Amino acid sequence: MSQKIARLPEEVVNQIAAGEVVENPASMIKEIIENSLDAGARRISVWIEGGGIQLIRIEDDGCGMNPEDAALCLERHATSKIRTEKDLQNLSTMGFRGEALAAIAAVSHLELMTSDGCKGTRIQAQGGRIAVVEPCARNQGTTIVVRSLFFNVPARLKFLKSSAASAAQIVRIVETIALAHPEVSFSLFSENKTLVEVFPNEKKKRIESLIGPMPHEIKQGSIWGLLAPAEEAKQQRRGQYLFINRRPVFSPLVSRAVKAGYGTRIAEHAYPSFVLFLSIPPGEVDVNVHPQKKEIRFADEGKIFRLFEQAASSAFETGPSFTEPLAFTRPVFALAEEAPPPPHRMHSTPLSFDFPLIEKPLAIAEGFLFLQSESLLLIDLAAAHARVLFESLSEKKGAVQALMWPLEAIVDDEGIAEELQSMGIECRWIGRRTLAVDALPAFLNGADFPDFLQAWREGKRIDLAASRYARGAKQRFNLDEAYLLWKQLQQCREKRYDPAGKLIWDRMDPSRLKRILEG
Ligand code: ADP
Ligand code: MG
Repeated sequence: MSQKIARLPEEVVNQIAAGEVVENPASMIKEIIENSLDAGARRISVWIEGGGIQLIRIEDDGCGMNPEDAALCLERHATSKIRTEKDLQNLSTMGFRGEALAAIAAVSHLELMTSDGCKGTRIQAQGGRIAVVEPCARNQGTTIVVRSLFFNVPARLKFLKSSAASAAQIVRIVETIALAHPEVSFSLFSENKTLVEVFPNEKKKRIESLIGPMPHEIKQGSIWGLLAPAEEAKQQRRGQYLFINRRPVFSPLVSRAVKAGYGTRIAEHAYPSFVLFLSIPPGEVDVNVHPQKKEIRFADEGKIFRLFEQAASSAFETGPSFTEPLAFTRPVFALAEEAPPPPHRMHSTPLSFDFPLIEKPLAIAEGFLFLQSESLLLIDLAAAHARVLFESLSEKKGAVQALMWPLEAIVDDEGIAEELQSMGIECRWIGRRTLAVDALPAFLNGADFPDFLQAWREGKRIDLAASRYARGAKQRFNLDEAYLLWKQLQQCREKRYDPAGKLIWDRMDPSRLKRILEG
C-alpha cells in the first residue's frame, strides 16, 4: 500500500475537535452561556428554533470584546483566561481551553456582534472561515448567533435528537446553570414560547422557583444545599443537582450518600430531589477533565460519602429553616412514621426462614442448589436466575442497585436508552454513541452487563436475553445467595419454568432416588 502520512488541513482538524467539544445544541449553549458568565454578564437571553438546530441566539450584557479580540476569539486555543500553565491551578472561570467558539464556528454559520463599550464589531464566519469583519452598533455585551448547525458534517446532523428532545435538553442545561448563578437573569425562548425566565434572586428562592419547594437546608462546612421533601421523591435522578465550585457535575456516590441521609424516610426505589453545592479549593479538583464529561471522581470516596450522608441527615434533624415557618403544615418527623419499613437488603440481612415449610439449603454443586424441604429439592440456578431476572425486567419490579461508577457502553441503536429504562436499567446518553448505565436491577451484575446488552440487542426479547444471560453469567452463587434466589423465585408469577420453558426445580422423593440408584 502506498499510504503516506499527511498533516490534516486545519479545517478538518477543527471539525474533528468540534465533535468532541460541542456535540449538540445543548452543549454549545452551555459553552456560550459560560463565556457570558466569565464575561461578568448579569442578564443572559437565549432564543432557539428547531431545538437549536436551526438557530441559537445568545445575548449577554457582559464586558464584550474589542475589535482585535473579537477577530481572534474564533481561533482555536485563543483564550483570554489563562496565559501560562500555572494559571491552570487556580482557575476561577468556567472556560479556559479556548476551544469552544472555534469548535462551534467550525460546524455552523456563526455571527458575532460584540462591543466593549467603545467599539462595536460584527463578524460572520462559515464553517470556521471568517467572511466579514465590520464595525457595528451595539451596547456593551455580546451576541452570538449560530445557524445551520453541522451543515458541513451531515453525519452528525443525522444523529441529533429530535427538536423537541433537543429543546428539553437545552431547558435542562439553562436551568442547571441558572441554579448555580442566582445573581444573573436567564431567559430561554423557543419559537416565541418562554421556556425559562428567572430574575436575580437569593439562592434559595432561585432554586425553589426552578425546582419547587425544598424545605430542608444543609449548611455544613463546605457543603450548602437544599433537599426536597421525602414524599416528593422521584423514580429517576432528574431532580438531583450537584455542583462543585459552581460547576455542574454528576456523582452516583453523592447521590447514594444523600439518599442514605434520608434514611427510612424515603421509599426504597425513590430518588430524592436535591441541589447541593460543594466548594473546595480549585487546586483540589481536576478541572482538566474532558469538557463533556461531567462525572467527577474523589480521591477519598469513603470520606465524601460520609460527609454527604451526614450533611443530609442533619438537614432533617434541624428541621426547616426558620425564615419560612409557614412552608410546612406538619412536623418533619411525622414523615418517619409514614415511611415504609427499612429496605430489604439483598446480601446483608440474615436469612430468615419464614417459609411455611421448614427448608434448609444443603449444598451447591454443578450449578444446582440442593434444598432440604419436605423432600429433597434440586434447583437449577441458571433457570431460576433467568425466571427472576425475566420478571424483574419485564415488570420492572424488584430492587435496583445504583452502581458506584456508571458503566459505559458503546451502542448506536436509536431508542435503546428508552428500551433499557423501561426494564428498570437506569441509563443516559453521554456521547453520541456512548451510554452510561447508572443502576441495574438486582440479579443483573455490572461485570456481566455487556453480555446482557448484547443478548438484548440481538433479539430485543427479554425472555431470550434473560435466559442467555443467566446461562452465561460469570456470577457464581454461594449457598446464601442461591437460597436468596430461591426465595426470590417464590415472588414470581411463574415459579416452575424459566422463560424458555425449562423446568427450574424438581423433587427428589425417596422413591425416585431409589429408582436412580437401582438404575
Ligand atoms: P475559553 O472560554 O475557553 O477561553 P472560548 O472559545 O469559549 O474559550 O472563548 C474564547 C475567548 O473569547 C474567551 O477567552 C473570551 O476572551 C472571548 N469571549 C467569548 N465569549 C465572550 C463573551 N460572551 N463576552 C466576552 N468575551 C467573550
Ligand atoms: Mg468558553
